[in-house]
Amino acid sequence: MIQSAIQHHEVTQRTTCRHCGHPLQRSLVDLGAQPPCEAILPESAFYEPESIYPLHAKVCEHCWLVQLDADVSPEKIYTEYAYYSSYSDSWLAHMQAYAESICSKLRLTERNQVTEIASNDGYLLQYFVKLGIPCYGIDPAANVAEAARGRGIETVVSFFTAEVADRVAKERGRSDLIIANNVFGHIPDINDFVQGLKRILQDSGTITIEIPHVMRLMERNQFDTIYHEHYCYHSLIADTRIFESQGLKLVSVEELPTHGGSIRMHVAHREDSRDPDESVERLLSMERSQGLDTIVPYQAFGERVRQTKRSLLRFLIDAKEAGKRIVGYGAPGKGNTLLNYCGIREDFIDFVVDRNPYKHGKFLPGSRIPIKEVDAVFDARPDYLLILPWNISEEIMRQMEAVRAWGCQFVLPIPEVKPIP
Ligand SMILES: [Zn+2]
Repeated sequence: MIQSAIQHHEVTQRTTCRHCGHPLQRSLVDLGAQPPCEAILPESAFYEPESIYPLHAKVCEHCWLVQLDADVSPEKIYTEYAYYSSYSDSWLAHMQAYAESICSKLRLTERNQVTEIASNDGYLLQYFVKLGIPCYGIDPAANVAEAARGRGIETVVSFFTAEVADRVAKERGRSDLIIANNVFGHIPDINDFVQGLKRILQDSGTITIEIPHVMRLMERNQFDTIYHEHYCYHSLIADTRIFESQGLKLVSVEELPTHGGSIRMHVAHREDSRDPDESVERLLSMERSQGLDTIVPYQAFGERVRQTKRSLLRFLIDAKEAGKRIVGYGAPGKGNTLLNYCGIREDFIDFVVDRNPYKHGKFLPGSRIPIKEVDAVFDARPDYLLILPWNISEEIMRQMEAVRAWGCQFVLPIPEVKPIP
């Protein structure tokens, strides 16, 4: 391939809102130029250049959709990773419970059909297969689709667009339930994606969409979940508009604890006999009471993020001046957003440890902090263990309890930097 041709399409600037086309001018938070947060470096690439791209979230003052002002091409973001869903037992139990409850709620039988967008290796659809409900998935990664087929789950290998939806609807008919879990934020062209959902939906069918809630992201200061592959950050205020524009309506919404605070939206055709239930109005009023249909909370969030950076650096500088040693726990994408935004390298953090053997001996993107196996903490005996995947901090503190033996303290970087005695 010709290098210049690739570079030409690496990144596309967005000057207008992805949904409504209004000029996109208001900054939410500018996290600087960063490498893709999952692009961990092998030792062989240590002296190679790294690609960095602007990471700047803005908010549309017309429809209040929070979004990045640039699209980095997916080939640049997903370079070497095969995305397999988590296999943890608790996660799978959560999936099974969801499959069982939604089948009973919608009274799905062997005469119905279920479709999952971004179905991965079939981690969720396997439970529909067990319940005897016909289903298939759509996923762009050929290797994970192969893994799904191995479990008896039919998978269409493709990105999901309105055009693909037309083709699939012709071949397989429309579906009674369409599931889009944690994919809605990864869509650069949101209107086209939602139009696609509508085209494969049966007249009285339901779409369920799970997504981190931008209200919680701002409230809990989770700015490190802003990544290049998350193009949009969703609120009901913005999403009800998006659904309406494509002939759909939101009929119900649930709040979930996953990913620091998520929502599961239930969506139907505009003509569907169901009216929105009280959950929709309740959450919409909560968003309005926080001012999410005004510029105020978005501006305050940006200032709070800059404040968090100064506090974290102050803590680290004080610790180093006092001769303390700091090690990081975990090498998740969000950790890299945080470290690169704050400019934290080996000058503050000696190394990070991670349970995934694939990452050992490699380096974090941008900061180039070395990644070691978990046991390295017990050899180094640091004074502080900075927990980067804060969403599972309880679990990590339980697993690493033994570090307290030499007086090591856990530190959480957000919502505000805090050592845990
Ligand atoms: Zn807009």
